[in-house]
Amino acid sequence: MTLQLSKSDILGIRSRLAIKGQAFIDGRFVDAASGETFDNISPRDGQVIAKVAACDTADVDRAVTAARRAFEAGAWRDRSPKERKKVLQRFAALFEKHMDELAVLETLDMGKPISESRTIDVNVVLDTLQWYAECPDKLYDEIAPTGPNQLATITREPVGVVGAVVPWNFPMLMASWKLAPALAMGNSVILKPAEQSPLTAIRMAELAAEAGIPDGVFNVVPGFGPTAGKAMGLHMDIDCLAFTGSGEVGKLFLQYAGQSNMKRVFLECGGKSPNIILDDVPELRVAAERAATAICFNQGEVCVAPSRLILSERIQDQFLDIVVDTARSIRPGDPLDPETKLGALVEDGHRSRVESYIAKGQEEGARLVLGGDRPDTNLGGYYVNPTIFADVKNSMTIAREEIFGPVLSTITVKDDEEAVRVANDTSYGLAAAVWTRDLSRAHRISRKLRAGSVWVNCYDHGDVTVPFGGFKQSGNGRDKSLHALDKYTELKTTWIEL
Ligand code: NAD
Repeated sequence: MTLQLSKSDILGIRSRLAIKGQAFIDGRFVDAASGETFDNISPRDGQVIAKVAACDTADVDRAVTAARRAFEAGAWRDRSPKERKKVLQRFAALFEKHMDELAVLETLDMGKPISESRTIDVNVVLDTLQWYAECPDKLYDEIAPTGPNQLATITREPVGVVGAVVPWNFPMLMASWKLAPALAMGNSVILKPAEQSPLTAIRMAELAAEAGIPDGVFNVVPGFGPTAGKAMGLHMDIDCLAFTGSGEVGKLFLQYAGQSNMKRVFLECGGKSPNIILDDVPELRVAAERAATAICFNQGEVCVAPSRLILSERIQDQFLDIVVDTARSIRPGDPLDPETKLGALVEDGHRSRVESYIAKGQEEGARLVLGGDRPDTNLGGYYVNPTIFADVKNSMTIAREEIFGPVLSTITVKDDEEAVRVANDTSYGLAAAVWTRDLSRAHRISRKLRAGSVWVNCYDHGDVTVPFGGFKQSGNGRDKSLHALDKYTELKTTWIEL
């Protein structure tokens, strides 16, 4: 899809934005109980764009109390499935009406190009909201095949109060993957956006209320991880915690659950995804260009970024030349410019982290073939050039740890067996790809890859109809598709002796 907005349209929308930074609790905007705020900085130019409520334990308590009250009163869960569907459809329609504004807000807040936020992010969120809005009156429960003198029903019930803690790389999108299925099943939701990117979550709460979602059913508590996030993890009255973010914080949520009420914890964490290019790659140029564009997509701040290019030694030079040429043409620039394909990294500290990995790659003996430096812009934001390493060993830090920037590590292999061994030699298991002309080879390899998504002759394809999540330390739950509903429901058996 191409962007329909011109630069002056975008700047016009930007100038008209009425940015809100308060929490949204029990159907209204409120300050943090402490009165504290924090500066919300745009990575585009390092300027403060809003003061945002710094919620902590007291605010999480308020939100949980409102969410529980709404749940117990049946304000949402006891509405007929058809009524819930109508409200959720209205929410989706309002979201659609405001997609230009939401895309600009997202780009300002976390630095991704408007050409992506307006053509990808908002459309995928809309699809997610619409798809789950249709679920409530289409799901049937079960009757067990018991004997003639019994009737046993197996019914799904909402789990209750759901906490959603999400990252900054796809702020609205990650939020929608949690809140749409959770609301569809009748739960109350408390969403904590990342401190780097709270603005679209706050706006979505306002739209949800306008659509008719009852007070207390959808709350947003912006704030920091170690305060608001931890308070949610430890809360005795949150029944389910759905998290997307780093493995390090994911592990904390498992501990928080153990220290509190054993809440169900579902994790979607990081990746170090292998993109395997075999010697019979069907269209070498297409695959090479995709290897470059996919590592630059969203500045490389993507959980499924193809950060390990596992390349057959027979085609390495020819392939890598195209990857380098393509990546060189992807120049970082102003995310609000419709021509920009590579925006700003989310914050200065994150850029330093990415740069420290680049330095580490060189120290450990990888060959820097492109980038590694900052572009010459006068924008003042947090930009870095596409960076490509060759001669990487899978034991090097840049092949093991998630960098979350436009940094590609190329590892050459001699055959399929080595490709699979290297691909699986990681603590992660989120995604993988294999490119080959040979269908049997593709099936054999994809069966051996330990990853939640495997792409054959493409990268990062999918939609709301298929589950998304990881093996190993990439997580335990699944977002999207009907499978996501399992996270937000309890199964109940009712046994009736006739
Ligand atoms: P992060 O783990 O630092 O933060 C994620 C969320 O957790 C934020 O809301 C943050 O405030 C909160 N948090 C941080 N510290 C906390 C603490 N001590 N207690 C409670 N909450 C805390 O991750 P990030 O830097 O925002 O996002 C990048 C990570 O997200 C990457 O690892 C990426 O791979 C992962 N991610 C995974 C998926 C997926 O679907 N698997 C999708 C997108 C991003």
